[in-house]
Amino acid sequence: MPNSYTKPLIAGNWKMNGLNASVSEFRLMLSEANKLFNKVDLLICPPVTLLQSFAQLTKDTDFSVGGQDCHINNSGAHTGDISAEMLADIGAKYCIVGHSERRADHHETNSIVHAKASAVWKSGTVAIICVGETDEEYIKRETLKVVENQLLESVPLGATSFNTVIAYEPVWAIGTGKTPTTDDVKNVHAVIRKHMTERFGEEGTIIRILYGGSVKPSNAQEILGVANVDGALVGGASLKAFDFIAIAKAAS
Ligand code: PEP
Repeated sequence: MPNSYTKPLIAGNWKMNGLNASVSEFRLMLSEANKLFNKVDLLICPPVTLLQSFAQLTKDTDFSVGGQDCHINNSGAHTGDISAEMLADIGAKYCIVGHSERRADHHETNSIVHAKASAVWKSGTVAIICVGETDEEYIKRETLKVVENQLLESVPLGATSFNTVIAYEPVWAIGTGKTPTTDDVKNVHAVIRKHMTERFGEEGTIIRILYGGSVKPSNAQEILGVANVDGALVGGASLKAFDFIAIAKAAS
C-alpha cells in the first residue's frame, strides 16, 4: 500500500525485447491507460531503439518513458554506451540503474550504480535504483544485510522523492514465477523505509519503494497491498498491454 503522499508507480522494464512491430502493443497500452492517471503513475522503459518513438507517442500524455541503464559520463569515447543526458534529450523521464542483470552481466558494483544514479540526477531525470539479494544470499538469510549495504553504497547523498525511486527485486524472483511471501516483502520494505528515512529524513518517508520480481495480474493486488510497497517494477508482464494495464488497475 503506497504512502499517503504519492501515487503508486507501475514501471515496465522491456529489457532486450521489442522491435518496431511492438509499437502497436505500446499504442494499445497507451489507449487503455487513459483512465488510470489520476490514481497511478505509469512508465515503460523500452530498449533504447524504441525510446524515441515511444517518447513521441506519449508526448501529450501522463505516461512516462525511461531508459534501462546509462553511462556514468555525459559524453565521450565510450563506444556503444548511452548517457543519461542523451536519454533525457529524447524524452526519458526515468532511468533504471543497478538492475541485477546489469550487476551480473556487466559486473556493475555498488559504486558504479552510485555514479550512474548521480548521472541520472544530473540529467534532470529520476533514478530507479535496484537492490535485491541473490538466491544464495536468500538461502543464507542474508537478505536484509545485503539490501542495506546496497542501499548504503548505491544511493547517493541528496536522494529525494523527486529524483529517486528504490526497486527491491529479489534476484531469485526475477523471471522465475517465484515470489517472496507478503510477510517477507513487508519486512524488507520496512527495512528499506527505515534506512531511507534515517538517511534522508522527511524525503526518505515518501521516496517510492517498488517491488519487482514475477509481478503479474494474478498476484499484483496482494503484493501492492503490502505496507511500504509504492508500486511495482514489472519485467515479462509489461510486454503485454493487457497484463500491464491489469497490474496498473490493481494499483489504482
Ligand atoms: C525485472 O527484471 O525487473 C523483473 C521484475 O522481471 P520479471 O517481472 O519478469 O520477474
